[in-house]
Amino acid sequence: MDAIVKNFPQTVRESDRPSQQEVEEAVRVLLRWAGDDPSREGLLDTPTRVAKSYRELFAGYDMDPEDVLGRTFEEVAGYDDMVVVKDIPFFSHCEHHMVPIIGKAHVAYLPDGRVLGLSKIARAVEIYGRRLQTQEAMTAQIAKAIDDTLRPRGVAVMLEAEHMCMSMRGVQKQGSTTLTTTFTGTFKSDPAEQVRFMTMVRGR
Ligand SMILES: [Zn+2]
Repeated sequence: MDAIVKNFPQTVRESDRPSQQEVEEAVRVLLRWAGDDPSREGLLDTPTRVAKSYRELFAGYDMDPEDVLGRTFEEVAGYDDMVVVKDIPFFSHCEHHMVPIIGKAHVAYLPDGRVLGLSKIARAVEIYGRRLQTQEAMTAQIAKAIDDTLRPRGVAVMLEAEHMCMSMRGVQKQGSTTLTTTFTGTFKSDPAEQVRFMTMVRGR
């Protein structure tokens, strides 16, 4: 897992960012590469819109999930069983083709005296989603962030997602879902806890 997550934080210094003008010119180049004419009326504002939308789609580079997860602990009288947040929708983009990955995250942990605000987990998923990703890395990163900040007895993360780079291009396999899991602590050492996690995630 360490090999995948060692490049964190992935943030770029503001001074290393290209200018608005450079970004818009790059989009015009891509429009010409696609075979269209960036000077036709319908495309005139497209470079500006794309630049703005990239800031939103990739806003995760400007955010540190540990800021979101940290210092938000709540004492919960004696509760020490599994906490599962399932079906967290996420959007990301694959780092190989820069096209969407659309999926759901299921996250669980076994508390060791402290719990997280439930919305914080969904927020951490969103932050990692709004970066260029592989599904494998994103799964490991979510688990590591919760492990590092909350120090629970164990973390389980499962992502299920459709990769548009497989659906729309290349092998063009629509509807196939990729599943990835990361288990730490007790989830890793005790297969029965993994089964319990899977059962809770699959239960409707
Ligand atoms: Zn791809």
